[in-house]
Amino acid sequence: MKKVVAYVTQTCPHCKTAKDFLRANHIPFEERDVNASAEALKQFQMLKLTGVPAFLVGDELMVGFNGEKLMQMLDFTVEACPSCGKFYKVPKGKGKIRITCKACGNPFEKLT
Ligand SMILES: [Zn+2]
Repeated sequence: MKKVVAYVTQTCPHCKTAKDFLRANHIPFEERDVNASAEALKQFQMLKLTGVPAFLVGDELMVGFNGEKLMQMLDFTVEACPSCGKFYKVPKGKGKIRITCKACGNPFEKLT
């Protein structure tokens, strides 16, 4: 499944909005602070990104934050175990899949 990388700074309000959105939707992501990390800044420049927040989803780039678009770029959804609430990344478009919760052992099905 695609990895989500967020290029951000700590001072930009849209970065905070974006991170809050990702957390609220339980989407795992790697945060790279382009002010704090020379390595993050180097990647940011190599990808020719023009501003923050910027996102790398798999190999697709998005500059600026659009929650709806970001969800569409993902190749997974995040589903909660109906019994204990633990979150799982579930691949999109695989039909009905069966998940056995690692936390509580509860099996559940999702139509993806
Ligand atoms: Zn569970």
